[in-house]
Amino acid sequence: MTMSTVSTGGPTLPQVRRLVTDTPGPRSRALAERRSAAVAAAVGSVMPVYAAAAGGGVVVDVDGNSFIDLGSGIAVTSVGNSAPMVTEAVAEQVQQFTHTCFMVTPYDGYVAVAEMLNMITPGRHEKRSVLFNSGAEAVENAVKIARSATRRSAVAVFDHAYHGRTSLTMAMTAKSMPYKHGFGPFAPEVYRAPLSYPYRDGGLDGPAAAARAIDQLERQVGAENLAAVVIEPIQGEGGFVVPAPGFLPALASWARHHGIVFVADEVQTGFARTGAMFAVEHEDVVPDLIVTAKGIAGGLPLAAVTGRADLMDAPHTGGLGGTYGGNPVACAAALATVATIEQDGLVARATAIGDRLLAGLRTIQAADPRIGDLRGRGAMIAAEIVRSGSTEPDPDTTKALAAASHRAGLIVLTCGSYGNVLRFLPPLTIGDALLAEALDVLADVFAATR
Ligand SMILES: *Cc1c(COP(=O)(O)O)cnc(C)c1O
Repeated sequence: MTMSTVSTGGPTLPQVRRLVTDTPGPRSRALAERRSAAVAAAVGSVMPVYAAAAGGGVVVDVDGNSFIDLGSGIAVTSVGNSAPMVTEAVAEQVQQFTHTCFMVTPYDGYVAVAEMLNMITPGRHEKRSVLFNSGAEAVENAVKIARSATRRSAVAVFDHAYHGRTSLTMAMTAKSMPYKHGFGPFAPEVYRAPLSYPYRDGGLDGPAAAARAIDQLERQVGAENLAAVVIEPIQGEGGFVVPAPGFLPALASWARHHGIVFVADEVQTGFARTGAMFAVEHEDVVPDLIVTAKGIAGGLPLAAVTGRADLMDAPHTGGLGGTYGGNPVACAAALATVATIEQDGLVARATAIGDRLLAGLRTIQAADPRIGDLRGRGAMIAAEIVRSGSTEPDPDTTKALAAASHRAGLIVLTCGSYGNVLRFLPPLTIGDALLAEALDVLADVFAATR
């Protein structure tokens, strides 16, 4: 195996964990110094190292250190970094044109992405799609569409939810620090309901948890005032919380009965991540609107709202849009991303990765009572860290475990309302050998961090 080609990204990159300097190394330290003088301090970074190349299951830094990637840039590069079909499609498109603005001179790629989304999202009803740049922007537009279609204003969201950092989506996001603290006042008409959180709600079953949420919404807001219920089928930043079976279907059927638009925020769960193309499929739920972003375009910025034609066509012409929404290069990447998922069988691969991760983590858990809960679906797996013999969240140990993993050459992320969840989101192109090595390193990290 040649180790000399670290500047070449994509799938040609040697698939190894290899630390050749202290981390951060001298080049990363120099960049950190330039950064602190140039970049707003409010932007944080998980890793102390600067990326030079990435592909398969690794990220290589500017000092030549090669890390096993268990983060995918937050569930974005599910098809891998610089996936071959994506880079080819992007290269071809940038040579034709980079932008005309779909609202000025429309183009094929946007229409093709809309057709693709209408086809692969759950439900065989007539659909439409509209494209944006970020998950938050798409969530906001789903709310605009629901309000326009229902002529109601209230929006229901859930405990621990994360929907973005813009003004409206900040209001929809649950966690104050760091997402909302000091950034108010927040948009009105957003109401929060209790979620199904099996590890923390005393074994309440799905239908009972849904009844609790519905009762609160009916009493405090009124079904007839609700434009939309917006929910992540599996929470992302909130802690990879998988609601108990039956929770999502009960909520969706209540929403349908009352003419409330049921919006699935699949920004983190979409595009094969959970071992289904979309996470609502695990419970046979067909949302009225589905919001997608992150994994949609192999790393290029793109987001979408897809859903029932009657709802999507409700707002007036010119009411939705944006300068860059559905950029042609991002559209080319999205078409290649979905083609890659299908060609490489990445939905099944996500399930296989999840099975391996869970099996390895269960072995660690058997010897370590600080892992209170293991959960997730497909390649979206989390370990909730608690004080031994209790369910009390332990964010300090979680931070220490993450930092030790980083020093050992793993990119892992944390999440959760209590900051006590280690989450694993490997690219679906990661090999079994790297995955096994990552689990060995995690076992060492847990053993050493006592
Ligand atoms: C990341 C995320 C968003 C926001 O997406 P951005 O592209 O960062 O604006 C919204 N909802 C969920 C579930 C997410 O994970």
